[in-house]
Amino acid sequence: MLLNLTESPNQEVVYHPKGFEPLKLWIKRDDLLHEHISGNKYRKLKYNVEFAFQNGYNTLLTFGGAFSNHIAATAAAGNELGFKTIGIIRGDELSEKEDMIRENPTLQFAKECGMQFKFVSRSDYRLKDTEDFIDKLKNEFGEFYLVPQGGTNALAVKGCEEILTENDREFDIVCCAMGTGGTISGIINTAFSHQKVLGFPALKDDFLEKEIKNYIHNFENWELIKAYHFGGFAKMNQDLVHFINDFKMQTSITLDPIYTGKMFFGIVDLHKKGYFDKNKRILAIHTGGLQGIKGMNFRLQSRGHSILE
Ligand SMILES: *Cc1c(COP(=O)(O)O)cnc(C)c1O
Repeated sequence: MLLNLTESPNQEVVYHPKGFEPLKLWIKRDDLLHEHISGNKYRKLKYNVEFAFQNGYNTLLTFGGAFSNHIAATAAAGNELGFKTIGIIRGDELSEKEDMIRENPTLQFAKECGMQFKFVSRSDYRLKDTEDFIDKLKNEFGEFYLVPQGGTNALAVKGCEEILTENDREFDIVCCAMGTGGTISGIINTAFSHQKVLGFPALKDDFLEKEIKNYIHNFENWELIKAYHFGGFAKMNQDLVHFINDFKMQTSITLDPIYTGKMFFGIVDLHKKGYFDKNKRILAIHTGGLQGIKGMNFRLQSRGHSILE
């Protein structure tokens, strides 16, 4: 059996921001879909691993940063399904010491899942989509099935078309955190015609609309809310840490600092500003990624902050 889970539960949640009306919304708990192949990464890998399996590949190769949810998920999927996995990791300073792997919870986990790493410099990493770079990897590692950075391709979008189901028809607004835009593309493709899809980019990127348009068929009712990237990918501040911890204390739901924390911060801020019509029903997708908290806390230590796990 390959990756065959489909539906995760919707949970009704009330969050009360100090000095404002409580916000009621529903959270699709894709973070509960699988313990280690988390959230949208499960969705994105599903048809890719099926394709790899049907075409006789025994190795998955992919790319990512040293704290990447996608690296962790690919390593876990390979471990569970019997693929060898190779991770091309951005930043060659990491290879200098075995200690670096030991101190990085994401790489440590991926290593325990059997992933083999190749660390490349940031400048080489930028060439990762070129034919020359991929040919060199083939010489080094032999045949592999290549999963792009962040896992986004047409098969990944197909997997993300399974996030919304018939039961989600009752919602008016669907919110999703964004990195490459693959996940929201699948959501846009299966959203109902009365729904509006809001994307919350976790990074500064002017090409996200274009990327989405490569994958969607026609549905026009979507919009990107670009005010909540907190300065860029994996950038944080104290307000965000406080919000994630307060949300956890009020709802018992853990958010990750890279994606879902920023999205929920954005949803709550829009609510404070009166953006949402009171009778609209909001569904926010919890895309998972909680493995990233440990690594972020490691980096936040020096600033005296910590995110609740
Ligand atoms: C990777 C990731 C995203 C971004 O998904 P894209 O398909 O790249 O837009 C969102 N949330 C979490 C938790 C992720 O790990």
